[in-house]
Amino acid sequence: PALRGRGRPRGRLAAELHAAALRAGAVIRTSAPVVSVSTGVDGAIVLQGGETVHAGQVVIATGPSAAARLLDVEVAPAAPVRLTVAEITAHGLTRSPAGSGVIVAPDVPTPAKALTHVDAKWEWAAAALPPGTSVVRLSARDGEAGGLDAPVDIARAVRVLTGVHVAPAEVRAHTRVDWPDAVCTPTTRALLADAAERRGIHLAGAIAAGTGLASVIPHARRIAADLLSHPIPHEGARHVR
Ligand SMILES: Cc1cc2nc3c(=O)[nH]c(=O)nc-3n(C[C@H](O)[C@H](O)[C@H](O)COP(=O)(O)OP(=O)(O)OC[C@H]3O[C@@H](n4cnc5c(N)ncnc54)[C@H](O)[C@@H]3O)c2cc1C
Repeated sequence: PALRGRGRPRGRLAAELHAAALRAGAVIRTSAPVVSVSTGVDGAIVLQGGETVHAGQVVIATGPSAAARLLDVEVAPAAPVRLTVAEITAHGLTRSPAGSGVIVAPDVPTPAKALTHVDAKWEWAAAALPPGTSVVRLSARDGEAGGLDAPVDIARAVRVLTGVHVAPAEVRAHTRVDWPDAVCTPTTRALLADAAERRGIHLAGAIAAGTGLASVIPHARRIAADLLSHPIPHEGARHVR
């Protein structure tokens, strides 16, 4: 999710990673969900549609629910990360009163846990908007409860978090975006780690390292270095249809 929904930077970073992986000899498969994983001398990864890929080492880097299904372990379902994105014409917002955004303290009376002032954070977004218009992204404290669905709720939350008076009519457009399977609690992380270790499977990404690229990237580098220091007996993966 950190790389999606951000326009131009996303495209460039994904393209660079894709090119670097191909240069290193990787085979990349997209739109190919894995439905089961088995380990052993010649682990089998079964893709939706029945194709099987054999691999000496398996690394799971999905969200927590998908990882739990692949590892055959039960975890409590987590609420989605719920965002409301709003286009607002309140004049005071064009001065970026909260900089690029705020993380909200627990005792502040608002259903939002964070606010991102999109056009203050990303120049490309500011350049794409008509003068006098701002785009704000509110992240709900409780993904199930919401509470940021109507212009009056959005106007109130923005007022509380930026100090700028926003009339509901100045919320010109808004939409809700849910990110399912994006929250991994410490309990779920521990259950997944235990199940993976028992089956000789590696975990990477937020399910192993914790949320955020600052955690995910160094952890992924460590996993990659570790796997490369113990070469597998055969080269690459074999595909069996
Ligand atoms: C709205 C939002 C904004 C965020 N903003 C930031 C930010 O600004 N900075 C920051 O550092 N972090 C941010 N984060 C957190 C960050 O996005 C995550 O910590 C990070 O993306 C986790 O990376 P990951 O590779 O573990 O998982 P993901 O990026 O979620 O990737 C998991 C991948 O697994 C795939 N997958 C799922 N099931 C299967 C299956 N069965 N078979 C094959 N593939 C499967 C999914 O399609 C997905 O591509 C944000 C998160 C959200 C939700």
